[in-house]
Amino acid sequence: MRGMPKKKVEDTHEEEVPEGSGEVPADLLESVEEVFVEGGEGVDLTVLEGVGPTTAKKLTDAGFLTLESIALSSPVELSVASGVPESTAKKIIAAARKRLKIDVMTALEYYQQRKSVQRITTGSRGLDDLLGGGLETQAITEIYGPYGSGKTQLCHQIAVTVQLPPERGGLGKGAFYIDTEGTFRPERIVQIAERFGLDPESALKNILVARAYTSDHQMVVTEKAEPYLAGRNVGLVIVDSLISHFRGEYTGRETLAERQQKLNRYIHRLLRYAMAYNLAVLVTNQVVSEVGFVWGDPTKPAGGHVIGHGVTARLYIKRGKAGRRVIKLVKSPYLPEDQVEVAITEGGVVDV
Ligand code: ADP
Ligand code: MG
Repeated sequence: MRGMPKKKVEDTHEEEVPEGSGEVPADLLESVEEVFVEGGEGVDLTVLEGVGPTTAKKLTDAGFLTLESIALSSPVELSVASGVPESTAKKIIAAARKRLKIDVMTALEYYQQRKSVQRITTGSRGLDDLLGGGLETQAITEIYGPYGSGKTQLCHQIAVTVQLPPERGGLGKGAFYIDTEGTFRPERIVQIAERFGLDPESALKNILVARAYTSDHQMVVTEKAEPYLAGRNVGLVIVDSLISHFRGEYTGRETLAERQQKLNRYIHRLLRYAMAYNLAVLVTNQVVSEVGFVWGDPTKPAGGHVIGHGVTARLYIKRGKAGRRVIKLVKSPYLPEDQVEVAITEGGVVDV
């Protein structure tokens, strides 16, 4: 990355990798070790009723490092991941919830909790306004649209803007990018970082990229992401795309129920991450043609109700006039449906 402008910017992670040392993987592994040690020391899970040292180890090995992450998981999920029986998992979750007092709260308390929600600028004023100020933490935002509409471009962009300091609309944190289609391009990150005046090398270092080759692999990769979320100061998890492997593998009618169940578990894990680590989750989704559709736009998001109910906000992106893109907010718990026009340039997604 020689010859690139070295502006002073926040490197939310640590040290420089010595040039030409070829030690990036080792460096990364070291950090993982640290995360595990920290997690093990930081939270003593044996404070939970019914959790001895053995169970505590099973849980931390499975990535459940905090009381929040346990409290927000389902018995099946906890049981499958850690190997403890489901009945025990149920008790452990109840114990974690009791400690966290998260089951019931007054609206006032909820209002206070919502105040910890942070927003990430998308880099487009119009899109930020559409989202009520940017991408929310503690939520899953979905963007769906046809091939080539700009979903992946937007993912790249927000993987950069999350790194901006809070006074510029970011969180000063990194991103964890799960790439299921092999379309992540570091070159684009460099271009977008330059547009925002961030040091490209730091911007690249603040993005952890994991390729997922099948839906099972995607599930595992996402599970294994957990230690990085707190340990590497991650403010945004991206899954691009959420559904392509699921759609490609579960094609017959008879496998649909199984697929939906798996997707449901997957989305709940993402939501748990969003809540437990106060981070934003951005997922992309494809469109399916609606059979017999006559009026309007003959496309709808893939994945059915599982995704529809699972995500917090839903955006639809499509090509507009003159190479522009139209982004429409089609679902939000509190914002009106509206739309905005943007363009994709070398520097990323911009207002028009
Ligand atoms: P998808 O919705 O399938 O993920 P993408 O996000 O990959 O679509 O969008 C691809 C489109 O983005 C391209 O067709 C092109 O219009 C635009 N694009 C990609 N890179 C650039 C660039 N460097 N400059 C301008 N436009 C670009
Ligand atoms: Mg794409």
